[in-house]
Amino acid sequence: NGTIGILGGGQLGRMLGVAAAELGLKCHIYCPDERAPAYDIAAKTTIASYTDQDTLAAFAAEVDVITYEFENVPAESVAYLTGLGAKVRPGAKALETSQDRLVEKQFVNTIGAKTAAFHPVDDLSALKDGLEKVGRPAILKTRRFGYDGKGQTRIKTTETDLSAAFEKAIAFAWEEVGAAPSILEGFVPFEREISIIGARSKDGQIRLYDPAENVHRDGILKTSSVPATITDQTAENARAIATKMLQELDYVGVMGVEFFVLKDGDLIVNEYAPRVHNSGHWTQDACAISQFEQHIRAVTGWPLGDPRRHSNAVMENLIGDEAHNWRALASEPDTGVHLYGKREARPGRKMGHVTRITKP
Ligand code: ATP
Ligand code: MG
Ligand code: MG
Repeated sequence: NGTIGILGGGQLGRMLGVAAAELGLKCHIYCPDERAPAYDIAAKTTIASYTDQDTLAAFAAEVDVITYEFENVPAESVAYLTGLGAKVRPGAKALETSQDRLVEKQFVNTIGAKTAAFHPVDDLSALKDGLEKVGRPAILKTRRFGYDGKGQTRIKTTETDLSAAFEKAIAFAWEEVGAAPSILEGFVPFEREISIIGARSKDGQIRLYDPAENVHRDGILKTSSVPATITDQTAENARAIATKMLQELDYVGVMGVEFFVLKDGDLIVNEYAPRVHNSGHWTQDACAISQFEQHIRAVTGWPLGDPRRHSNAVMENLIGDEAHNWRALASEPDTGVHLYGKREARPGRKMGHVTRITKP
């Protein structure tokens, strides 16, 4: 019946649903929140916990394929759905690897790509060992559940009271994301940040969008621009790493890979997201096939679309009260306005984005 089940009801689910509708397909959104941006555009919604097995089973029975729009879907739930015979795309390996920064970095190193120096940290003595290993400054992060820079604490070069810093990091991480910090990363002195949005189909076809250059503000993505100011060689290397990751994870769907670019052009993989990615929103206005349509195509077995870019683009996130002037933005030429229908604007909350396109 052409229905895609989506776990998660945020703006990514909403934009996936809109893209699915363009292809004549329907979405059934499964999300525990009472109010979620994706509900407005869903053919059907289920408001239930991600761990409620009976409800998950009923959901699986009603849809043709299941995907997700956020990476913190419990891995056990995906295993349960897969066990019922449901097609979950991307599969369990891609999801689980991305859920734990330690496992993720080990995976990236396994395929021959570089990461920041890292050390698992579960107590103060491991933090001390870690600082010996990765140097200073360093960043203490939660292994799980972090997003938009939440659950991260910087350890300065001048920090002397490590015990206090560690206690503070734990308290802070619990407050922000409900998990303790447990990986220490060396600070990467990057020149810029880029990302690659790539797709892989069930039969192994791979399509990559051009790398975007990303600027963060207060740990939150602010702009993504194409083309990125990197050499052809760096772009080629980023493509090669993303390709390898998609293959090794036996990936089906769209993935976002974030990189740090060093002065000499060398690439360090920061993290990947097993889903459509904020730094790929520019594809809606600068490509014939957006990342959202590409993901729907991949998970439903459609032929993948051409990721070619017909324009240059700068995507800007509208955060907090920045969406209030949508009228002015809507009057700008060559500007795609995308609002998520969230009722309440809170500081740091992504309310929408605009993409300004220019001739390439
Ligand atoms: P999101 O999932 O929203 O992209 P996140 O919470 O998973 O964010 P990261 O991507 O790990 O967080 O970090 C957010 C930003 O903080 C990075 O894009 C980068 O600007 C900076 N950052 C993170 N780790 C490092 C590092 N090891 N060295 C230097 N800068 C870093
Ligand atoms: Mg992340
Ligand atoms: Mg990130």
